[in-house]
Amino acid sequence: MTSSTEADAANELMRLARQIAKHDRLYHAEDEPEITDQEYDALVRRNAELEEAFPHLVRDDSPSRKVGHAVAASPLSKVTHEVRMMSLDNAFADEEVADFVARVRRFLSLGEDEAIAFTAEDKIDGLSCSLRYEQGKLVRAATRGDGQVGEDVTANVAHIPDIPQTLEGECPDIFEIRGEVYMAAADFLALNARQEEAREKLFANPRNAAAGSLRQKDAGVTAKRPLKFWAHGWGAASAEPGETQVDVVRRIEGWGVPVSPLFTRCETLEQMLAHYEKINEQRPDLPYEIDGVVYKVDRLDWQKRLGFVAKAPRWAIARKFPAEKAETVLEAIDIQVGRTGKLTPVGRLAPVLVGGVTVTNVTLHNRDEIERLGVRPGDRVRVQRAGDVIPQVVANLTPEEKREAFSFPDHCPECGSEAVAEEGEVDVRCTGGLICPAQRTERLKHFVSRAALDIDGLGEKTIAQFFALGWLESPADIFRLRARRGDILALDGWKERSVDKLLASVEDRRRPDAARLLFGLGIRHIGAVTARDLMKHFHELPALRAVAEKARAGDEGAVSELTDIDGIGSAVVEALGDFFHEEHNRAVWDDLLSEVSPPRFEVETLDSPVAGKTVVFTGKLETMSRDEAKAQAERLGAKASGSVSAKTDLLVAGPGAGSKLKKAEELGIEVMDEAGWADLVAKAG
Ligand code: ZN
Repeated sequence: MTSSTEADAANELMRLARQIAKHDRLYHAEDEPEITDQEYDALVRRNAELEEAFPHLVRDDSPSRKVGHAVAASPLSKVTHEVRMMSLDNAFADEEVADFVARVRRFLSLGEDEAIAFTAEDKIDGLSCSLRYEQGKLVRAATRGDGQVGEDVTANVAHIPDIPQTLEGECPDIFEIRGEVYMAAADFLALNARQEEAREKLFANPRNAAAGSLRQKDAGVTAKRPLKFWAHGWGAASAEPGETQVDVVRRIEGWGVPVSPLFTRCETLEQMLAHYEKINEQRPDLPYEIDGVVYKVDRLDWQKRLGFVAKAPRWAIARKFPAEKAETVLEAIDIQVGRTGKLTPVGRLAPVLVGGVTVTNVTLHNRDEIERLGVRPGDRVRVQRAGDVIPQVVANLTPEEKREAFSFPDHCPECGSEAVAEEGEVDVRCTGGLICPAQRTERLKHFVSRAALDIDGLGEKTIAQFFALGWLESPADIFRLRARRGDILALDGWKERSVDKLLASVEDRRRPDAARLLFGLGIRHIGAVTARDLMKHFHELPALRAVAEKARAGDEGAVSELTDIDGIGSAVVEALGDFFHEEHNRAVWDDLLSEVSPPRFEVETLDSPVAGKTVVFTGKLETMSRDEAKAQAERLGAKASGSVSAKTDLLVAGPGAGSKLKKAEELGIEVMDEAGWADLVAKAG
C-alpha cells in the first residue's frame, strides 16, 4: 500500500475507475484489449486494496460494484464486403516515400523520365466505413471490421449529417463510398466533459470516441454524438466515374459527400514531400487529429495493374508523422512468458500522456535491449509512441554513474524452469515447455485468437480461468466444453445466455478452415500466410502431415514437394518435421482432429483459363515487369513459378528465352508469347 493520504487514495480510485471501465470496454465491446490480463488484474487488485483501506471512499461507479460482464460479441449484425477494405503500408521517412515511388515505377516498367502523378491527403484518425449507394440511395453502411467482414451501421450513420441518404446528381447504379467516421478534437473534449459530469465512461482519444459512438446497438446514442465523415476512396462500383483518383474523388464531392480539404495532386516526388511538410506544420491547428499523409497513384488503370500485396495496395502508402515523445519514471520491470516460452520484459511507467494517450506500459523487447538502454527500475526515461506502434523507451535520462545493472532472470517466473538463450539468439526462453502454465495458456489464447479459430466469447480471461480449473489442457478440450455447461454456469458472472452463446460459437467452429487451424497450432515459422500456402497445396491436413513426416525421415521427394511450394523454405520444413516428431504434438493433433473436421481447403479462384495452373515467365517482357506478370497470374488463380518442371502448365516466353523454353518444349508444355498472355488476361477480365 503506497497511498498514504486520503486525498491521494480518492484520486487514485477515480483514476482506477476510469481505467478499468476503459479496459472493460476495449475488451468486451471492441475486442481490442490494450493491456494484458495480468495488467488488468493488477488494476482491479489495487482498487480492492484501496477500497478496503478507505471503505468510505468507495465510488458509485466503482468497478467492484459492477456485476460480471456477459462476454458480449458485437450486437451489430455482420456485413461481408463485396470488395475487401484494405489497409495501407506505412513509410516513416522521405527515403521510404522515394522508394515507394521507385517501386511503382519499376513495377509498371516506366522510364525514369516518365511522370507519375500521385494524390496526397491527410490521414484522419477515425473509423473506416463503407457506404453502399444503389441508384443514388444509401442502402447499407458497414464498418471496416477485419477488412472482409464488418458490422452493419446503416441505422447509426443516418444520424451523421455529412453522410447523405441520397447522392446529388448523376451517379453509377451501384457505388460504395469509403471513408472515415471521426470526431473533431473540440467535440471529443466536450463529449468527455459531459461523460464525466454524468459519471459515464471516458474515451481515451477521439478515435475510440468515434468507434464507441458509431458501434451502438441503439442508434439513438449515435444521434447524440457529434460524428463527422469524409470520403477517401471507393469499393464496389458498377461503373468508375473517372480515369484518375482525382476525377473520382471530385465526383464523390460533387454528390454531396465531404472529402479532405487538404486533398491535392502532386506531379513529382518533391511536391509530395513538400505537401507532407506543409500538413505537418498545420497539424497542431487542424480541428481534427491526423496521423499522417496518404499518397495514391492517380491513374486508375495503373492502380489496377499494380494491384495488391497481402492486405495493402501496391499503389498507395501512408507517410506517418514522427513519434510523439514524453518523459517519465520507469517504476518496475516485469517479465511475461509467451506462447513459445519467450521471456519479455515489460516496463511499468508512472502514467504519462504521450500524444493524448495515457501510457503506463512499454515493451523492453528482450535482455539485450535492457542492456543497451541500461535501464533499471527507478530510472527516468524518454518514451515515444508512433501511430499504432506499442510505446517504447528510446532513452535513459538517468546519468550512467547512477545506474545499477538489472539482472535478467535465469529462471521462468511462471514455472521456475531454467530460462536460457540458445546460441546466436537474443531471446531468453523458458525450457519448461509443457509443464509451463504460461506457455500452455498462451498457446490456447493463440488457438482461439482472431487470425486462428476466431472463437467469439472465449477471451483471454476465460481461457486463463478455465485453464486454472483444469478444463482446458489442449485445444481439443475447447470442443468438449459443452459437457461442462453446468460447471460454467456455476461460476460467477455467467448466465444461461452467455454460456449458451459461448458454446454456440465453439460449435460454430466444428468445421474450421484448415489453414486457420494449422496456424492456430502455433508451430514455429508457420504464420497465417504460410499456413494458407501449405493448405493451398495439400488441401487436407492429413496429407500435409504425411509429407512432413516423410520429409523428416529424409525422403527427398517429400522435402522437395514442400520446398517447391512458393514461400516455403527449409525452416518451415524443419519446423513441421520437428512438430510431428514430438509424440505429445501428435497426440494433441489426433485429439483435435477427432473433435473437428475441416472441409477440404480450396481457394476461391476466378473463372479464368489458368486457374489452378502453374505458369512460368522467361525471357524479356516488354510491356510489364516480371513482378507485374506474376501478380497477374496470381490474380487469375494461377501459381507463378521460377523454374520449368513436369508440373508446369504454361510457359510465357519473351525474346531471349533460352534453357527454360527448350526444356518446356521437350516436356511438351504449352508455350505462348507476351501478346498471347495479354489476350488471356484481358479475356479473364
Ligand atoms: Zn515457464
